[in-house]
Amino acid sequence: MKKELHFNSKTIHGGQNPDKAYGSVMPPIYQTSTYAQRSPGKHKGFEYSRTHNPTREALEKSLASIENGKFGIAFGSGLGAIDAVIKLLKPGDEVLSTNDLYGGSYRLFTKIFEKYGVKFNFIGMHNHSQVEKFINDKTKLFWVETPTNPMMNIIDINKLSTIAKDHGIILAVDNTFASPYIQQPINHGADIVMHSATKYLGGHSDVILGALVVNDKSLAERLFFIQNASGAVPGPFDCFLTLRGIKTLHVRMQRHCENGKAIADFLDGHPLIEKVFWPGFKNHPNHEIAKVQMNDFGGMLSFIPKESSFKNAISIIERFKIFTIAESLGGVESLVGHPASMTHASIPKKEREKSGVLDSLIRLSIGIEDSNDLIKDLSQAIQ
Ligand SMILES: *Cc1c(COP(=O)(O)O)cnc(C)c1O
Repeated sequence: MKKELHFNSKTIHGGQNPDKAYGSVMPPIYQTSTYAQRSPGKHKGFEYSRTHNPTREALEKSLASIENGKFGIAFGSGLGAIDAVIKLLKPGDEVLSTNDLYGGSYRLFTKIFEKYGVKFNFIGMHNHSQVEKFINDKTKLFWVETPTNPMMNIIDINKLSTIAKDHGIILAVDNTFASPYIQQPINHGADIVMHSATKYLGGHSDVILGALVVNDKSLAERLFFIQNASGAVPGPFDCFLTLRGIKTLHVRMQRHCENGKAIADFLDGHPLIEKVFWPGFKNHPNHEIAKVQMNDFGGMLSFIPKESSFKNAISIIERFKIFTIAESLGGVESLVGHPASMTHASIPKKEREKSGVLDSLIRLSIGIEDSNDLIKDLSQAIQ
């Protein structure tokens, strides 16, 4: 019955039942590593907390529900979740990935997994005709972010999923930027949805956690095996916090999107601003695809000032009073970042600039404060 709920109810009720022991409405934090057995091997379904934990299970059911998948699998961080996906592969396998992706993913792929013989190609996947040129019989995985970080390119998930299915390739979408409020990749044919729940799902900048959601049972079994065998699991308290964050995801996202639009409109056409990257603009090159696969355009945007220099970008960033200079995104508070020296510093300058991440690019994560205060802050910072 809960399957038929609308999204705004699934965030609260999806996969949730009052606790069996005392009926507590919120899932208790089962802060335990192990579980008493009646007789060796005879237990209530829980043996050891790396393998199973009731608080984590409550979160995993919620994750599956909000992403419209059958199985949710939680990890100690977003990168822990990505790490588990790449461990589905073996030496010699190849991955096609977006080129302006999260710096930590790039680092994991090139600095860790290339050592084990997995090969990664980074291309502009919003250019779909390019994609097929890079496929060969070793290509096993598409790793996609949309909107991309920080250039806000939009990739057509439906189209990519058709290409993936034709070639027997797994399509994984990092849905961190959009959140399931805006886009549910499984509905467009993705096999794996990944989240840094550290961002919008947790929503309060107080927890590091990662998640995968899949529909296919055998794929889920392989990922649950890796979760247990490699052990990058989140603790019960972090699961509780993330679950609590998810309950207000829809109301927070609505405001993130409203504020995002107000700020994008303010910056667009401002005499001191050269270019604003936000998929809600009618002249954004992928706006038509965005309209089809996204319910709204989110609270993430990037811009380049007219005086396009490293120095000017840094002085603008240092002048912010309400926006906090910080890594991360998706919290209730507004953040400003400088991709070239922060989130994307682990990508070589040449690679970075190929995908448009100039030294003058500034990224904003728009929070849920009053948009008038945010615009006033921006206005004084860019003067
Ligand atoms: C933050 C982030 C990650 C990594 O997640 P952690 O929780 O920090 O490990 C991956 N992808 C994107 C798009 C992110 O923003």
